[in-house]
Amino acid sequence: MSQNNHRPRKRFGQNFLHDKTVIQRIVKYINPQPNDLLVEIGPGLGALTDALIERTHPIHAIEIDNDLAAHLTQRYTPQQLILHHSDALTFDFRSLIHGEQKIRLIGNLPYNISTPLLFHVLEQIECIQDMSFMLQKEVVQRLAAVPGTKNYGRLTVMVQYWCRVEKWFEVGSGAFTPAPKIDSAVVHLTPHETPLVSVKDTTDFHQIVKSAFGQRRKTLANGLKGLLTKDEISFLGIDPGKRAETLDIYAFAALSNAITQKKFTAMTNTP
Ligand code: SAM
Repeated sequence: MSQNNHRPRKRFGQNFLHDKTVIQRIVKYINPQPNDLLVEIGPGLGALTDALIERTHPIHAIEIDNDLAAHLTQRYTPQQLILHHSDALTFDFRSLIHGEQKIRLIGNLPYNISTPLLFHVLEQIECIQDMSFMLQKEVVQRLAAVPGTKNYGRLTVMVQYWCRVEKWFEVGSGAFTPAPKIDSAVVHLTPHETPLVSVKDTTDFHQIVKSAFGQRRKTLANGLKGLLTKDEISFLGIDPGKRAETLDIYAFAALSNAITQKKFTAMTNTP
């Protein structure tokens, strides 16, 4: 099977890479080592897979499309590729870990699911060594954004809480078949060895970031109604009249820890 006899499925975000220079550049940046545990999301017709297998094998790959999964099983030997015919959005990455070695996750991701996929992987971040993803350029801008800019949002804060974000390079739409309407960029995410900020309860951190950005045009006091009062926000040295997109990760950590403390106090004061 080739790009000529597979009809790309839009619902699976199938834009296949055909530009050999781009493929080689991605692999050069990833720099796979012989003992790496490589896992590719969405191998498709094998454009990146071929180049990765040249450097190390076997590698794992997760593909949802029935036809492509059948093609990949025929094309590669089990010594080259261990194929998981499943949905990456529900995939248990922990199941691939045996011992200390962590996963190097790679993918020219289907753009329609890139954000939920990032959140799904963040839930299993303890088994990830690093991630190298081709994404919509606009998503990479969101991942790398700084407070006070239009691209700064929930995705930025959650990804930067867990990972260091490094934009590698941009890729024009002509590198793909069919060519998407938008440009792309390759980004590298490396989990922090020690947390960037001290958060007592990551569930509270998730909730506060979600609520604060839930209503983007609202002030913090409105977004966090029911969680923290105006006075409690002010007590942390944070202006409750500010908007979420102006707060840095340290402010979100302070808000999150205040909620955790408040819950704990309420629990210990209950007779
Ligand atoms: N890696 C190939 C390349 O670079 O040419 C294909 C990339 S294409 C943008 C995205 C791939 O992800 C397709 O093969 C598609 O079928 C697959 N895919 C889409 N949704 C998926 C999902 N939820 N889980 C696993 N694979 C998925």
